[in-house]
Amino acid sequence: MPDQKRDYYEVLGVGRGATDDEIKKAYRKLAKKYHPDMNPDDKTAEAKFKEVNEAYEVLSDREKRSRYDQFGHAGVDPNFGAGGGGGGFGGFEDLDLGDLFGTFFGGGFGGFGGGGSSSRANAPRQGESLRATITISFTEAAFGCDKELELNRTETCKDCSGSGCAPGTTPETCPNCRGSGVVRINRGGGGFSFSTTSPCSRCNGTGRLIHTPCKSCNGKGSVMKKQRIKISIPAGIDDGQSISLRGQGNAGANGGPAGDLVVNIRVRQDKQFTRDGNTVLYEHVVSFTQAALGAELEIPTIDGSVKYTLPAGTQSGDMFRLRGKGIPYLRNSGRGDEIVTIRVKVPTSLTSEQREALKAFAVSMGETVPTEGGVRGFFSKQRKKK
Ligand SMILES: [Zn+2]
Ligand SMILES: [Zn+2]
Repeated sequence: MPDQKRDYYEVLGVGRGATDDEIKKAYRKLAKKYHPDMNPDDKTAEAKFKEVNEAYEVLSDREKRSRYDQFGHAGVDPNFGAGGGGGGFGGFEDLDLGDLFGTFFGGGFGGFGGGGSSSRANAPRQGESLRATITISFTEAAFGCDKELELNRTETCKDCSGSGCAPGTTPETCPNCRGSGVVRINRGGGGFSFSTTSPCSRCNGTGRLIHTPCKSCNGKGSVMKKQRIKISIPAGIDDGQSISLRGQGNAGANGGPAGDLVVNIRVRQDKQFTRDGNTVLYEHVVSFTQAALGAELEIPTIDGSVKYTLPAGTQSGDMFRLRGKGIPYLRNSGRGDEIVTIRVKVPTSLTSEQREALKAFAVSMGETVPTEGGVRGFFSKQRKKK
């Protein structure tokens, strides 16, 4: 076993900071001393000679020496990482995996994609973010509103402060994975080897063993709770936008912060208004006499009706703008406008008196007046077209 091996520096009788030259000199001296030719049939000398050679092989190679400095004998074991062609399964669960991944895969051996020390099972982790949807009315979106949302989320257990241990007890660091939550399995063959990690089965990947679980949360450290959350929706929000409430999501693990709550906003369609950014669009229907002669109108806005003088001779499709009657700018001052489109409505049924009046009007405009049947036919055709 690696642990029974003597330290390579000790074997060569040099300090940890020894230069390549010092190592070479020390090796030559000892190799000569224990060489089988000089010590025939001496088993102790033979073992010493092997040991010296092994030490020199590692300490004379810059890469192996650096791995040895970091990880000891395991770091230069032929089964280790990409170091050699050993097969089978190595027993590296003993290593401190957090440090191992941080240094070993972090530097020089890129491409393994190994997590750094942040992948440690008991490192603080942020809780998951939650999503919810709230549907509000057109005017609520325009002017903002306060809403309440009911949702189920996990919260840090108050009785154990998230440790999962019954009051007065503490968790044990899992001896199988030394708290890392993962064990490393070394596979290889055909001239190379690689390693994979799998969650520690003893602690289910948590890195801790809880012997007396907290009764309130069954050792999980968090509890599911139904919560009513107040949400202040700002004026000017539009359909499809969302609001993030920091820390209102699920509880974090190991003292990490809670996740966020992301509220997606849906805005119901309004009967009379539509919206284009911060502009309110509205269609106002007038009679053809109002359009021809002009009129005093009451135009609805999101603030209530305003008076508007329609000029004589307005055409269907003419538009006018009511400044500052649109949607407030989100988290900003000022407002958009309302744009009003005039639609002229042609009457669909006329009394004989009205028909006569219109005929007289048509004649005065120099138009040919259709016959009685033609008039009806003209109007019914127009209706069908719609
Ligand atoms: Zn608890
Ligand atoms: Zn474990």
